[in-house]
Amino acid sequence: MLVDAIMDALDKAAAEREQSNRIGAHNVGTCVRKLWYTVHGYKGEPLQGRALAVFDLGNRVEDAIMAFLEQAKVAHIRAARQQDAVYVEELGGRVVPDFLFEVDGETIVGEIKSMSDFAFARAERGDIDDQYLCQVEVYMRAFGTKRGLLVAYRKETSHLAEVLVERDDARWERIKANVAQACADTPPERPYKLAIDCEDCGGSGKTPAKGLAHKACNGTGRIPYGPIIPRFPCGYCQYREECWGALEMVMDPKGRPVWRLTGEGAAA
Ligand code: SF4
Ligand SMILES: [Zn+2]
Repeated sequence: MLVDAIMDALDKAAAEREQSNRIGAHNVGTCVRKLWYTVHGYKGEPLQGRALAVFDLGNRVEDAIMAFLEQAKVAHIRAARQQDAVYVEELGGRVVPDFLFEVDGETIVGEIKSMSDFAFARAERGDIDDQYLCQVEVYMRAFGTKRGLLVAYRKETSHLAEVLVERDDARWERIKANVAQACADTPPERPYKLAIDCEDCGGSGKTPAKGLAHKACNGTGRIPYGPIIPRFPCGYCQYREECWGALEMVMDPKGRPVWRLTGEGAAA
């Protein structure tokens, strides 16, 4: 009754959304080939309305954390505003973190991320997605800080966690190399490989205990519905068809959508 109207409005807003081809802190650590497509103006698959809803939720979580910080009277919080943005020569653009704060005279950049259960559990162990680390690295370089703080918000339960990120010269060099590759005339190699081997038997085609032919792959050791592109990140990438060629969506045995190569790519 209402959901269709909401989704139609979101889809329309998504279709009208301008796609940026700029390199920013948020995308500099993404797949370098994806960054190349972005920089070179490829449109890729249009954004879906639901993705807009996900972004919107992320913005609302940021607002909530900023409000919590004010409520907690945490000193020297400064909400991200465009006039606070700093130009980073290596990226050719301005960047601004979610907030900055001070501890014993040290300024620290802060970045808020809303996360799924899975990503949050990793964050609690200090294991952060490299893309987020690169984002915080750029802010540290831009604002001349030695450390950044990533505040994780678990969407399902509203738990919070924080991870301190130290400046890392190797990471910064990697970021600069990514920018150079993304701006080059020819696209960089794909950093990911096609998935060909049967996941359950590791490509051996045999059961681990008795060494019998593995039923799921008929003893071939190959994914019977493959080859498929990596579920993550390629399965979620808007440039997957430009990158890999013709694809079709199929369901894996666990009912998860995966993308199978069709045509020439599949035969190769
Ligand atoms: S499909 Fe995969 S390898 Fe290709 S651009 Fe996207 S993330 Fe990178
Ligand atoms: Zn198998």
